[in-house]
Amino acid sequence: MAISFVENAVARRGLMLVISSPSGAGKSTIARLLLEDREMDLSLSVSVTTRQRRPSEIEGVHYHFESVREFERLRDSDALIEWAEVHSNYYGTLRETAENALADGRDMLFDIDWQGAEQLQAKMPADVVSIFILPPTMKELQMRLNRRAEDTAEVIETRLNNARFEIQKWSKYDYIVINEDLNQSYAAVKSIVMAERLRRDRRPGLFEFVNGLLEEQPS
Ligand code: ADP
Ligand code: 5GP
Repeated sequence: MAISFVENAVARRGLMLVISSPSGAGKSTIARLLLEDREMDLSLSVSVTTRQRRPSEIEGVHYHFESVREFERLRDSDALIEWAEVHSNYYGTLRETAENALADGRDMLFDIDWQGAEQLQAKMPADVVSIFILPPTMKELQMRLNRRAEDTAEVIETRLNNARFEIQKWSKYDYIVINEDLNQSYAAVKSIVMAERLRRDRRPGLFEFVNGLLEEQPS
């Protein structure tokens, strides 16, 4: 399913792939598959957060873990292109990361909540492609949160309570994927990215390509 060499050579704007979901629906799992898939060539926008680091997380890879004071400094100096309070912690996207990627024509993945998605969509409507991941059932959502076993019982309880509210934000997104079977969901997400990369208005290089085609003299 790779994009051909000629296709790839046509100059294109980078896209901002925003993936959100209620906690536990599988967004991070799908995001990780996308980032590991060399064919997709996506890089993660590493957010700043005031949340405690989970045992499996690495500073600078999954998040930049900062104090509330430092977060507020970044926010107040306009270094964050969007930010939100989620489950009683602050999260935000560094402006520099997002703007550099777009300028270089690179595609970035944003694992952010609906509040962040809304802010990016308002600021960069032409560049954002948004996907919302839903769980197949609430029971399965609860099981997944428990199975992940990286949060305390209290944190899981808060996240489950917030899930009902977050799910209602589904209609703000371009695409909705119900994550029942992981392989099928991943294939769906991959197809969305592939199709969005081929959108005419994201490919200014097509003018030059088509002019070249028309100038070609078939022998
Ligand atoms: P989120 O990032 O949305 O909070 P995670 O990606 O951490 O959720 O997934 C929560 C848990 O559910 C993890 O243990 C993950 O391995 C598991 N999971 C993700 N997708 C599926 C799926 N389709 N079927 C079963 N388990 C899944
Ligand atoms: P977690 O604590 O599980 O890593 O993330 C909790 C929620 O915060 C998730 O919905 C995640 O997408 C969201 N989130 C992570 N980084 C950001 C960010 O930079 N901005 C916003 N708005 N939300 C974020």
